[in-house]
Amino acid sequence: MDKNARIYVAGHRGLVGSALVRRLESGGYVNLLTREHADLDLTQQVAAEAFFAQEKPDYVVLAAARVGGIYANNTYRAEFLYQNLMIYSNVVCAAWKAGVKKLLFLGSSCVYPTRAAQPMSEECLLTGPLEPTNEPYAVAKIAGLKLCDSFNQQYGTNFMSVMPTNIYGIGDNFDLKSSHVLPALLRKCHEAKERGDATFNVWGSGEARREFLYADDLADACIFLLERYNACDLGTHINIGTGEDLPIRQLAEEIIDVVGFSGELTWDHSKSDGMPRKWLNVSRMQDLGWSAKTDLRTGLEQVYAWYQSEYPSALKTQ
Ligand code: GDP
Repeated sequence: MDKNARIYVAGHRGLVGSALVRRLESGGYVNLLTREHADLDLTQQVAAEAFFAQEKPDYVVLAAARVGGIYANNTYRAEFLYQNLMIYSNVVCAAWKAGVKKLLFLGSSCVYPTRAAQPMSEECLLTGPLEPTNEPYAVAKIAGLKLCDSFNQQYGTNFMSVMPTNIYGIGDNFDLKSSHVLPALLRKCHEAKERGDATFNVWGSGEARREFLYADDLADACIFLLERYNACDLGTHINIGTGEDLPIRQLAEEIIDVVGFSGELTWDHSKSDGMPRKWLNVSRMQDLGWSAKTDLRTGLEQVYAWYQSEYPSALKTQ
C-alpha cells in the first residue's frame, strides 16, 4: 500500500477501528479517512454510496459493526442481525461501485459451529448449527464474508475477510450490560476491591474457554495482510488469534491478581456459558509469517492501567 493511499477505516471509534488507526499512523500512512457516526450512518444505503462516490477511498477496512458481549448479543438479536447486515451490504457494494482496490472485512470466530472441532480451522465454516446466544450476529458476519467472496467471484474485486478471536484492549467497552467478558471482569473486580466486597461474582460456570487477542495485535495482523496479500491468496477467510485459550475461571483468577482483589471468587450459574470453547486454529497466519506479540498478562495490565486513568474521562466524551 502506498503511504499516501486514501484508507477508509469504517468504525474508527471502536476497539478494533481505533487500534487500526493507531497502527496505520505509526506505519506512516498519512491519508486516513474517517467519519463520525453522527455524520455517516452506514446502515443507510444512500448515505454510504454518496460517501464512497465522493471520497473514493483506495482501501477500506470494515471494522464498523453493532457489537457486544453475550448479554447484548442475546438481548438485541434483531438489531445485531439487521444493523450489521445493512452495514456490510452497503459498504461492500459501495466499495465495489467506487472501485476500491482492496477491502478487509472484520468477521468473528463466532461464525463457526458451536460444536466445531477444536482448534477451529477455516474449513469448519457452515458445517453445523451456530451458538444460539449469538446466532444473529454470527449470521451477519457469515453474510459479510460471503458478500466479499461473492463480489470477488462475480466482479473480480479484492475483498478479504479475517475471523478474529475475542478481542480486548485500550478503549474497550466497560459497560456491564454490553461488554465482553474481559473488560466486564476487570471493572467488576476493580469495583469489588474499591468497595471492600468479600466476593467477586462472575457469570456462568467458569468452564467455558476463550482465546483473547490484544486489539493492537489484531490491527497489526490486518495491516500485515493488506500490505502483502490479496484476497485470492487467503481463500474465503483467514483466522487471527493467539493460538492459546483458557477457561474463564483462569481469566478471572488472573484478573484478581492484576487488580489486587483479596476476596473470594463466586459464580452465577444462572447465566449462560455460551459457546463451550472458541479456540482458533491459526496455523495459516503462522505459515504466512504472522503471530501475536502481546501475552495476556501484559495486555491485562495495560488495559487495567488505561481503565484506571482514562476510562472516567473517556466516558464523558462518549
Ligand atoms: P462470547 O465469547 O461471545 O460468549 O462473549 P463474552 O465475552 O460476553 O462471554 C464470554 C464468556 O464469559 C461467557 O461464558 C460468559 O458467560 C462469561 N462471563 C463471565 N462473566 C461475564 C461478564 O460479566 N460479562 C460477560 N460479557 N461475560 C461473562
